[in-house]
Amino acid sequence: MMSTTETETVLHESANPEPHVAENYHPLPVVVAEGGGVWVTDADGKRYLDLLAAYSAVNFGHRHPAIVEALVAQLGRVTLTSRAFMNDQLEPFAAALAELCGKDLVLPMNTGAEAVETGIKVARAWGYRVKGIPSGRARIIVAAGNFHGRTTTIISFSDDEQARDDFGPYTPGFDTVPYGDADAIAAAITDDTAAVLIEPIQGEGGVIIPPEGYLRRVREICDERNVLFIADEIQSGLGRVGETFACDREGVVPDLYLLGKALGGGILPVSAVVGDRDVLGVIRPGEHGSTFGGNPLAAAVGRKVVDMLSTGEFQERARQLGAHLAAALESLVGHGVTTVRIAGLWAGVDIDPTYGTGRDIAEKLRERGVLVKDTHGQTIRIAPPLVIRATELDWAVEQLRLVLEG
Ligand SMILES: *Cc1c(COP(=O)(O)O)cnc(C)c1O
Repeated sequence: MMSTTETETVLHESANPEPHVAENYHPLPVVVAEGGGVWVTDADGKRYLDLLAAYSAVNFGHRHPAIVEALVAQLGRVTLTSRAFMNDQLEPFAAALAELCGKDLVLPMNTGAEAVETGIKVARAWGYRVKGIPSGRARIIVAAGNFHGRTTTIISFSDDEQARDDFGPYTPGFDTVPYGDADAIAAAITDDTAAVLIEPIQGEGGVIIPPEGYLRRVREICDERNVLFIADEIQSGLGRVGETFACDREGVVPDLYLLGKALGGGILPVSAVVGDRDVLGVIRPGEHGSTFGGNPLAAAVGRKVVDMLSTGEFQERARQLGAHLAAALESLVGHGVTTVRIAGLWAGVDIDPTYGTGRDIAEKLRERGVLVKDTHGQTIRIAPPLVIRATELDWAVEQLRLVLEG
């Protein structure tokens, strides 16, 4: 009935370990039971090197002791108050995060998509109240190939058919231009444009790095035309690219930073919109909020994350290890790899289709104890926790070489 080589895959499929979980994902066949640092362990005790880091939410590694300590300390005090009252953790977190960003104000939320939604609302309110756009007409320019989350408004300006089809009607008010083309943004701006919303590096798109000078040019255009520059740094920010923010690679400061993922230290969902008072200050009491946003547990964790980033140590690691990883991956080009795009410790590796799909390679790497995630068919994304060692990176790239050699 089945050949022995098929046995393992077929067994995994027939014995779905998550029969009660809605199938909105297609996970690799591994059931993680424990994690520490860059390693996770499955229910059978097999260890895997985690090169995905929960899409950069686990930048500091699984259960980083300093973050766990901050969490446990706060668990012993108070966890949730709602914003109907103040709590003694939110202001210190907001002050530290604002300082890290060089901005005045922080609006705390939970997930990345909520930070994006918040950014959209702030941009529209700014458009009407400050720029003077006629009511109901504000528009936001976005880039093709974007990923900003999964809410109905956000998928309205996605061009990913899987994310969009059958989920309309869509929210109007967005104009899509090619990514990496600043002139296209300039041409798309009208008197009704409130903001440009882009990822400084497109993550889900496959670690797409725009041409040098793009972010600087976008900043200039936004200044000239009185349009807000909103940088979605949810995946690219907080150390991943060897700087605090991907915008730092071009010395650019957006009007609003959208942050999430690693801000929660790999423990809790913590997101935020950070900006100056002249922009973020447009939001008035009652206009926006979240029951859990800014809760004391999240704030304690987020503040520890900001403390850790303020030394520059993790950014420096990402820079150095990124250079190391780049050299190792370059050696695979022409040997099953067509292209490598890399920024800090964040790589998009395009697999030669004759060697299989990105998913095929991810499944074979899993068998060898390395966890990665494919994106857009042929790409695998490598984004290990920033606490990884050079020797571990070398071992992982060696496993990829062995998989490609078949
Ligand atoms: C992951 C991601 C989001 C959405 O974050 P969630 O926490 O999954 O809602 C938004 N923007 C970017 C760039 C992301 O990578």
